[in-house]
Amino acid sequence: MRQTITEPARQVDVIHETDVLVVGAGPAGLAAALGAARAGAQVSLVERFGCMGGNITVVGVEGFAWYRHEATVEAGGIGREYEERAKAMGAAVPESQSLSYELDSEGFKLVADALIEEAGVHPMLHRQFAAPLMDGPRITGIVTESKAGREAILARRVIDCTGDADVAHRAGAPTRMTPREEMQAASVMFHLAGVDKRAFMEGVRRDPQTYGDWSSGEWQIETSGKEDAMFSPYLGKPFERAIREGLIPAVLNTIAGTWGAAHDTGELTYMNLIHLAGCDGTDPDSMTRFEIEGRRQAMLAIEALRAYVPGCAGARLRNFGMSIGIRDTRKIDAAYNMTVADVRHEGRFEDSIGIYPEFIDGYGILILPTTGRYMQIPYRAMLPRGVEGLLVAGRAIGGDAISHAATRNMACCAVAGQGAGIAAALSLRQGRELAEVELGAVQSELQRQGVRVF
Ligand SMILES: Cc1cc2nc3c(=O)[nH]c(=O)nc-3n(C[C@H](O)[C@H](O)[C@H](O)COP(=O)(O)OP(=O)(O)OC[C@H]3O[C@@H](n4cnc5c(N)ncnc54)[C@H](O)[C@@H]3O)c2cc1C
Repeated sequence: MRQTITEPARQVDVIHETDVLVVGAGPAGLAAALGAARAGAQVSLVERFGCMGGNITVVGVEGFAWYRHEATVEAGGIGREYEERAKAMGAAVPESQSLSYELDSEGFKLVADALIEEAGVHPMLHRQFAAPLMDGPRITGIVTESKAGREAILARRVIDCTGDADVAHRAGAPTRMTPREEMQAASVMFHLAGVDKRAFMEGVRRDPQTYGDWSSGEWQIETSGKEDAMFSPYLGKPFERAIREGLIPAVLNTIAGTWGAAHDTGELTYMNLIHLAGCDGTDPDSMTRFEIEGRRQAMLAIEALRAYVPGCAGARLRNFGMSIGIRDTRKIDAAYNMTVADVRHEGRFEDSIGIYPEFIDGYGILILPTTGRYMQIPYRAMLPRGVEGLLVAGRAIGGDAISHAATRNMACCAVAGQGAGIAAALSLRQGRELAEVELGAVQSELQRQGVRVF
């Protein structure tokens, strides 16, 4: 039994009141805040770090829509706006394997600032959600912790976009987590400087890699077959050679993965090469250990790139992401939990709040939406059980493991976020509970905001 202490009770200042409070400013939270504000609600956005963008800006995940091919059918909406706005602001470059643009993880901070300001959302950065305020089963606001100590924010609707369902979990909503040994790996991401782009790209052209190559070394990846011969910016051979030649210890046979964008300025960004099994993103001790281990492995990977990859001899670490990247933690037990059948067989739902192409990436599966197939995302997957006044959007929506391999993707998180934001705003206008919101009106507002719903 662990020793415990009792925290003394205290008075907390109410520093702010709002109609819709979004907690967490990742792809889902940003979209929720923008969607709600554009639907006419007064919106505030709480974020623990000093920038918005979530994994894009915090971890350095720049590949927003690398699944996009000619036949891909998508929702549009705020997710597409992220890309278009980033292009317009010089914060995106063409992505190497698709018809999409890769977001610049630093430039996207400015994109998010601009979007939030234009929509009239009230940003509240540098505040970590600490506790829910409850009135019976209803959430009425949150307590944050920051340099200012503990502060209370009151809200009529709360949208949990923390990625980890922090708010829902603390409010008592049931959640589930994949067992630690089966969780998707965590990654320490990094970006390089000092790369000779011309020589690097020449090397890629001489020895192009494919999605079929993902099934070499440590992993076997299931595809639908049509992906196998397609180009992928995959890096595996340099690390196999580094192990053979003793540069990397043989136990580190999980170092492999993809590069993101090669820039004219000599940067090679979004290096997704380090995969750390068994990291629990809800356990700070586990995250501490894997942050340090991930950085160690990243430096070994850079040594191998310098030794064996054309154009990389002068490469140096430009930066790590601000935080280890976590793929897989709590999911709510929602009014409807999505299933593997929904994502593999074009799930259709009357309460759809947007579509997402047939893109599955995770748990050993890679299926690309090259055929025009797509699924719909049901509103009920964002309704947690047992707590009123709360929606959960982003990678913590209800669903099984394989459904999560689709819904966790950033563009899908943006679809969910926009739907949740609009539903929260309209539930207030209609004077209805979130579970009773009139969905026809939500779908009409989504369409008005440029989202393909069916
Ligand atoms: C290494 C890695 C590579 C990936 N590659 C891709 C890819 O190529 N393409 C793709 O589409 N997806 C990719 N993903 C998945 C994708 O990045 C995430 O699933 C997605 O960002 C989730 O969006 P979200 O808005 O739900 O949460 P997040 O992006 O995690 O954002 C959550 C936000 O909430 C804030 N927050 C969390 N807790 C609190 C709290 N208690 N109080 C206040 N704020 C809080 C966080 O700081 C963050 O800003 C990758 C993920 C990882 C880790």
